[in-house]
Amino acid sequence: MPSAATTTKTRIFHELDFDQPGKQIGYLRVPQSRDGGAWSTIEVPIAVVNGSKGPAVLFTGGVHGDEYEGQIAVSRLARRLDPQALRGKVILMPAVDLPAALAGRRMCPIDARDFNRCLPGDPAGSFCQMLAHFVDSVLLPQVEISVDVHAAGNAMEAALSSTMHWVQDPSVVQRTKALAENFAAPYNVVFWGVDEGGTMASAAERRGVLAISTELGGYGRVSVEGVRVAERGLDNVLKWMGMIEGKPETSPGTRHMEVRDQKGYVFAPSEGLFEPLHLPGAQVRAGQLAGYLHFIEEWARAPVPVEFRSDGHIWMAPGSGRVKKGDVVGVVMQPYSG
Ligand SMILES: [Zn+2]
Repeated sequence: MPSAATTTKTRIFHELDFDQPGKQIGYLRVPQSRDGGAWSTIEVPIAVVNGSKGPAVLFTGGVHGDEYEGQIAVSRLARRLDPQALRGKVILMPAVDLPAALAGRRMCPIDARDFNRCLPGDPAGSFCQMLAHFVDSVLLPQVEISVDVHAAGNAMEAALSSTMHWVQDPSVVQRTKALAENFAAPYNVVFWGVDEGGTMASAAERRGVLAISTELGGYGRVSVEGVRVAERGLDNVLKWMGMIEGKPETSPGTRHMEVRDQKGYVFAPSEGLFEPLHLPGAQVRAGQLAGYLHFIEEWARAPVPVEFRSDGHIWMAPGSGRVKKGDVVGVVMQPYSG
């Protein structure tokens, strides 16, 4: 037996047959030795639904535990999908980082990692790294499309949107935009991310899988409209791919937007209490006040004004209160320029 340190194969096991007709709802067993549990595993929910021969898609939620819309939409879809009425294969994971989902946190409480920075993962690594390796090496190679449902978590609130990366190949751009238009969130944001490469979307792109993510709410609560957009969007993708009956419901349509570079981001100049002045979707201009940084412990000190650095609409608005120097306290999107 190879030791964990030398293995290149996944250490995660399960009882699913990804090609078996019908619906299987089960768990990935991720080994997690602990005091009092030498052979303990963490059971991460997964379902696979196989209908007649056709395309294959991966729908994920709960990559971040403080983002709830995807957890609700993906688990509900897993329960209601009928293999008799399905063409192709749907793999569903409603709470990818289950320990984070149970804790309502962004970071995994087991290894203190952000799952969405761990791809392509490591079979000999920590909980998130092992799981990321399974998603990258076992699940993504099976599918043509990946939709990873996120929201803005505890720290921010997003204008309801799908998201995609800047990719080089124009035909991939066109197909990804078409996927986003059929998912049909109010906005689709092509964005430059502060920290890319380790994300689900990046991993999907490396595997040649058509991928979008979403930002469907935030402020650490369940967005009523975000859940509605997520559920309709996942159904729409299946309809667009001809996997279930019906035409995608895309009204009133999707506006393509972009965050081209770091100018779209507003960073806190120091630690403090940030008071935002605008809501997601609001139109703003470069030089306009984004908010004030307050210093409650030095109450005689005047709050520091913080300005936007580009024109556009607010994609992400902050709401967490306390911020550290270098935290993002706003992201501005602009109409897509191609
Ligand atoms: Zn997220």
